[in-house]
Amino acid sequence: MKPANRIGFGWDSHEFVSGIPLKIGGVTIPHTKGLGGHSDGDVLLHAITDAVLGAIGAPDIGTLFPPTDPEWKGADSGVFLNEALKRMGSAGYAIGNVDSSLILLSPKIGPHAGNIRGHVAKLLGIGVDCVGLKAKTPEGIGTDNAAVANVVVLLERTAAAPKKTPARALKK
Ligand code: MG
Repeated sequence: MKPANRIGFGWDSHEFVSGIPLKIGGVTIPHTKGLGGHSDGDVLLHAITDAVLGAIGAPDIGTLFPPTDPEWKGADSGVFLNEALKRMGSAGYAIGNVDSSLILLSPKIGPHAGNIRGHVAKLLGIGVDCVGLKAKTPEGIGTDNAAVANVVVLLERTAAAPKKTPARALKK
């Protein structure tokens, strides 16, 4: 029997780069800088994706979508999350809730938190009350030009355990 619940943890960081759009949780936020990276740099969606993949023991985001692969250049990070959700569904689990902490100096996340939570909830197919989002400033850790995301996710078993292969089927 599979465990009724599984927990996953994801962590990611991206450096701020001038002149590109800032996307966090699939929401474009007005700012002078965006997050660099091979895809759209969505640090929160990357951490959520890794948390979901980790919870089911799947390979991580960098293994499934190598940054060296030109196919993922500028990709919408929702694509990565969808793959993780597909694998989660096949494994017989659904999202229970997700909680996250962003660490960045600016912009202030507070005014956008509602939008981000709503969008993430929609992507995950859960209620907004099941999406936690906190934003902290990087006091004394020297990451003023980066955004960091920490995410935990709880999965709930949806499918019955697969039926055991009948003994006779195993005989030659
Ligand atoms: Mg990333």
